[in-house]
Amino acid sequence: MHTQTIWVLGDQLSPNNAALTAADPASAVVLMIESKARGALRHYHKKKLLLVYSAMRHFANDLRQAGWTVDYHLLTDTPDFESGLKRHLETHHPTSIQLTEPNSFIETTALKKLARKLNTDLTLLPTQQFLCPRADFLAWASPRKRLLMEDHYRRLRKQTCYLMQKNGEPVGGQWNFDHDNRKTFSDWHKAGRPTTPIPALKPDTITREVAALIDTEFADNPGTTENFSLPVDRHHALKWLDNFITHRLPTFGDYEDLMVSTEPVLFHSLISPLINLGLLTPQECAEKAITAYENGHAPLPAVEGFVRQIIGWREYINGIYWLRGPDYAKENALHAHRPLPDWFYHGNVPMSCLNHVLHQVIDTGWNHHIQRLMILGNFCLLAGIRPDQTLRWFTEMYVDANEWVMAANVVGMICHADGGLITTKPYAAGSAYINRMSDYCPSCQFDPKLKTGPQACPFNYLYWNFYDQHADRFNNNPRTSMPVKNWLKRPPKDQQAVRDSATTFLKTWVPVPE
Ligand SMILES: Cc1cc2nc3c(=O)[nH]c(=O)nc-3n(C[C@H](O)[C@H](O)[C@H](O)COP(=O)(O)OP(=O)(O)OC[C@H]3O[C@@H](n4cnc5c(N)ncnc54)[C@H](O)[C@@H]3O)c2cc1C
Ligand code: SF4
Repeated sequence: MHTQTIWVLGDQLSPNNAALTAADPASAVVLMIESKARGALRHYHKKKLLLVYSAMRHFANDLRQAGWTVDYHLLTDTPDFESGLKRHLETHHPTSIQLTEPNSFIETTALKKLARKLNTDLTLLPTQQFLCPRADFLAWASPRKRLLMEDHYRRLRKQTCYLMQKNGEPVGGQWNFDHDNRKTFSDWHKAGRPTTPIPALKPDTITREVAALIDTEFADNPGTTENFSLPVDRHHALKWLDNFITHRLPTFGDYEDLMVSTEPVLFHSLISPLINLGLLTPQECAEKAITAYENGHAPLPAVEGFVRQIIGWREYINGIYWLRGPDYAKENALHAHRPLPDWFYHGNVPMSCLNHVLHQVIDTGWNHHIQRLMILGNFCLLAGIRPDQTLRWFTEMYVDANEWVMAANVVGMICHADGGLITTKPYAAGSAYINRMSDYCPSCQFDPKLKTGPQACPFNYLYWNFYDQHADRFNNNPRTSMPVKNWLKRPPKDQQAVRDSATTFLKTWVPVPE
């Protein structure tokens, strides 16, 4: 007799799911609901929907094999969470429902409200999908004036003892090996253009069935379900992680910031979709990398760089989301007002860097960090695109997107819309950076060396136009006063040429409706 229900959401497919680990298959039934309304909340990329629904179905099968009873509600006959939950209550009559706390405000509020409406007892248990409990981050962050990722990272290194010596000092004598990492395109070329193949997993029957479903139910959504090759269960996720640790981690740091048009993944892990769904835990990702270092398989700069992504950035971004609350997503400190242009959804633009990166995300639902930050994000910042629309686009297009991870990355990191809460300066760059770190420029119709005029790279004049528009704000910041001072020193004729080029470009490519 099952008296208790364990409700598992689509991004809680974790071996450490708190509600599951606290329950007994003999007395509890697992509830899983594919809500059509949740899937349609945004215009999600088809591969994102495919990943989530296929992973949910695989997770349900794994639970059944482990002896659980699973009450699974399929998308085709479940318009929303309410209909699924009602059906479950009528059939199973649980005395209580246990749910691991959802990963977003939207779901937390909606599901609590739903439980009240259906007069059912819903208990939330703290999530184990992050190393740093929400309350712990809030206690650390709330009284602080500065909220730097680096401070949070060092605190977590000490707490976890990851890459720490017995005397409390970091292994290797320093916290950060960035200066050893981040080789340029020309370094990569001189090194013989090293690459390593990414495993291509063939979709199984479940994934193929879900793909057909997505193609019917979400026919107008961006992207396609074709060539989907991500893991959708824990077994394959672990193999995927091991493949990264063995083949790509040793070179991860060297080429962390590199962008190559024919090599979308390079040495990145591509684990974000898996860790965000719960198929991998942050602990095992970090610990396997550290073991690789201890066994002499991977150098310290690469391993430290990777551990910083997992326990530093990922945990920090989640902490900021819960610290700042749902209104964080609405911030717009720079008053950016241009609508996101339609071409973000088809990618057909003459700027080669944007064209490559957009086509990649439309095809695969994924870009690596520097493509997101220094191509797409940089463009949105410099062009003054509205943070709310930028946030919406990023949330829709990426297979690893979740509300919690998008807010700080988009609103804070790329749009600088929180006024510098999480970044001391905006991530703004002209063509020199892109040309140094990628192979995009040689095939571009624009000239990265020209500063103004119709042939000039738009990133160049948009960069100076940005500092022109925000000179007062950034002149007072020691980390950004240099470009502002340089801008103010330029002859008025040059300044006007920058403004004219920016105005012409923006009118065509990022228009504001009359
Ligand atoms: C504008 C923008 C949007 C982003 N959107 C997402 C998103 O929707 N989902 C997402 O998981 N990450 C997002 N990121 C962070 C980062 O770009 C991706 O996690 C990373 O590119 C995923 O590829 P990977 O797994 O190969 O990462 P790797 O480069 O191999 O890094 C390892 C892991 O570190 C974690 N990580 C690293 N940086 C971040 C970060 N800034 N925030 C959160 N986790 C981080 C991820 O779990 C990632 O899988 C975004 C970054 C920016 C600038
Ligand atoms: S020239 Fe400018 S627009 Fe063209 S690829 Fe280079 S940075 Fe991008």
